[in-house]
Amino acid sequence: MPIIDLSKDLVPEGCFLNQIPKAPTGHYAHLIVVRETESFPVFQTDGTLNIAKVSAGLHSDNSLIRLAMFKRKQSSPERLTGRELLHRVNITQNEDSSGDDYCDYNETFCGSCPDCVYYGFAIGDAGSEKSKVYVDTAYSITGYDESHQQFSFNALYEKGNMSQHGDVRSGFGEQDHIVPQVFFPSVITIKDVTVYSFAYVLNNVLRTKRYGAQTTRTGRLSNHIVGVVFADGEIFSNLKFTQAIHDGLGDDKNEIPLNPTKVLQTAQNTLSVLLEDDGVTYHLLNRENLKQLLGIVKAVTTDAEKLQLFLQEANTEAQEYAARVIQKASNKKQK
Ligand SMILES: [Zn+2]
Repeated sequence: MPIIDLSKDLVPEGCFLNQIPKAPTGHYAHLIVVRETESFPVFQTDGTLNIAKVSAGLHSDNSLIRLAMFKRKQSSPERLTGRELLHRVNITQNEDSSGDDYCDYNETFCGSCPDCVYYGFAIGDAGSEKSKVYVDTAYSITGYDESHQQFSFNALYEKGNMSQHGDVRSGFGEQDHIVPQVFFPSVITIKDVTVYSFAYVLNNVLRTKRYGAQTTRTGRLSNHIVGVVFADGEIFSNLKFTQAIHDGLGDDKNEIPLNPTKVLQTAQNTLSVLLEDDGVTYHLLNRENLKQLLGIVKAVTTDAEKLQLFLQEANTEAQEYAARVIQKASNKKQK
C-alpha cells in the first residue's frame, strides 16, 4: 500500500498506473496551475523579457503583447526543488561518495532516481529517457505594458556601500522586471502517471517559490492549483486557458493589478467549458474534491518522516523502471 492513499471516490480506479509502462498507455494527469508573481522576477533570454503577440481572448479581435515564461524557466526550478529533497534524505548519493553514482543535474545524471525517471535526461551516447512531465510556454493574462517596469541598477562595492575611496559608483544598467501580481496560467502534464510521479511533481510545484534568471532566482512566484484533471489524452494549451480567463474576467481585467481571488475563480469557472472541447474522457477535481486531494498529499509531504518514506517508495519505483526499461535499452544498443 503506497504511503499516499487516495480513495477510489476521489480518484477513480484506472487513473493511476501501478507501474510505469515501457510504452505510453494514455494515462494522463494534468495539474492546472495559476502562477502569480510576488516580487520582480525576470524571465528573459538575451537580456530582454520574453514576449509574444497573440489574440487577447478567445472571443476578441484585439491582439495583445504578453509576457512569456518559457518551459525551462518553469520546470528547472521545480526539478531542483525535488532533487534538493532527494539529497536531503540521501537518495541520490552513493554511500562511498566516490561520486560515480552521484546524480548531478545536467552533469552526470544517474539515470535511475525519481528525478531522472520522471523528468527525463540525456547523457550523450550513454543513454537517455524521455520526460514524462510536460510543460509549455505560459503567458501573462495582462499585457506587457502593464505587467513590467524598468529599473536601473547600481553595483555595490563588496561591503554593500555605494562608494569606496571617495568614488561613487553610478547606475550602470537597466533591466526590465515583471511586477508583482502578474498571473501566468499553466498546465503541467504527467504522462503514464503513477501515484508516485503525481505526488512527486505536485510536491515540487507546491514547494518551488523562486523562478527566473538562473544566477539570482530573485523572482518570487506562488503556484495556485485550481484543478487536477485525469484524462486519456492531452487537454487545452496554456494560451487557450489564458485567453479564456481573459474573456471570463470581463471588465475586471482592466483593473491593474488584477484581483487574485477573481482570477482564481474565473480560472476555475473556465475548466469544464474548455475540457468539453478537448475530445477526451476526463475526470476533473476542483473546489471541494481538489481540496481533499491536496490535503491528502500535503499530509504526507509536510511530515518529515512520511515524506522520507514517500521519497524512498518513489525511488523504488524509479529504480525498478530504470532496471526494466532504461538499462535494458542501453544494453541492447551496446550489443
Ligand atoms: Zn538521477
